[in-house]
Amino acid sequence: MNKRITLLRYLLYPVIWAGSFLLIVSLLAAGVNTYLATLSVIAGAAVVVLLLERALPYETDWLRTKHGDLNLDTVHYVVNYGIKVVAQLMILWLGQSLILWAIFPTYWPLWAQVLLALTLIDFFLFAVHALSHRYEWLWKLHAIHHSSERLYWLNGDKRHPIHQVLEGLPGITLCVLIGAPMSVIAGALAALTVNMMLQHANIDYRAGWLKHLFSVAELHRWHHRADYKDAQVNYGAWLVIWDKLFGTYYDAPSQAEQIGQIGIAEEPDFPSTYAGQLRYPFRPGTKQVNSLLLAIGLSFSFLSFQTPEDRYGNQIQSACYCMPHPHVLE
Ligand SMILES: [Zn+2]
Repeated sequence: MNKRITLLRYLLYPVIWAGSFLLIVSLLAAGVNTYLATLSVIAGAAVVVLLLERALPYETDWLRTKHGDLNLDTVHYVVNYGIKVVAQLMILWLGQSLILWAIFPTYWPLWAQVLLALTLIDFFLFAVHALSHRYEWLWKLHAIHHSSERLYWLNGDKRHPIHQVLEGLPGITLCVLIGAPMSVIAGALAALTVNMMLQHANIDYRAGWLKHLFSVAELHRWHHRADYKDAQVNYGAWLVIWDKLFGTYYDAPSQAEQIGQIGIAEEPDFPSTYAGQLRYPFRPGTKQVNSLLLAIGLSFSFLSFQTPEDRYGNQIQSACYCMPHPHVLE
């Protein structure tokens, strides 16, 4: 391989993500309007990623739209970006009234504050994501994200709006409760958005040793394999340190050609319209279990500190796509 191309492949991830991060922090520090600063960097990163997908594709077949997914994914992206903006407006509106324990280090340099907020939000994203592969009612909400049959930059924010809220709410709420400023949270969300774009991008970039820290495309593609039992790895949205800690990290660069089919093998007829995908989690379960009833039952099981298996025994095993052990690739 041409040495210059090889070097370029290794530089793309750190340059695009760190460049976007520094740009976000610099614009916020310069007093640029928070929404303008974050949106302009996200849009700029999107254009760069879009062009690189055409110049250096990982999989040329993924450049083609499948079942009109481009329009669908654009709607998901816009709606979910809107949810982030609404969250920021709510934080601004509620202001100081939500701070319970003002321990967030607002005296730190802005870049360090954004990194701290990003780490907190990212941990809860990881936790809710991992739980979403464990419990059926959460899985049905999360399945929309896995329904794509190709991976490209728009998949980063392809989520059911309810799942988007469930994933983001714990970390953002914690940040607000401990006194993180809204601009810091907005900066963290923007940096996260850029990472999720790169994590799903159809670009043949290489991350090298950064694969041990950050959730990059080379790792995340394993998470999108169509066979459900193979997708229980690499849950991290920004950091993969959480996967390393909880034993769900997986990488096999020499077998990357085995990534194979993307999507949900058990659901070949997954709804392909936005309305259909919104309704999907609330359809009666394909295995005769109503998701909503199960969700209510699970809520009570959480309150009583019992696992769903304790409460439902074999019923949940038969109702759930979950694997008893999440890490099945050893
Ligand atoms: Zn997932």
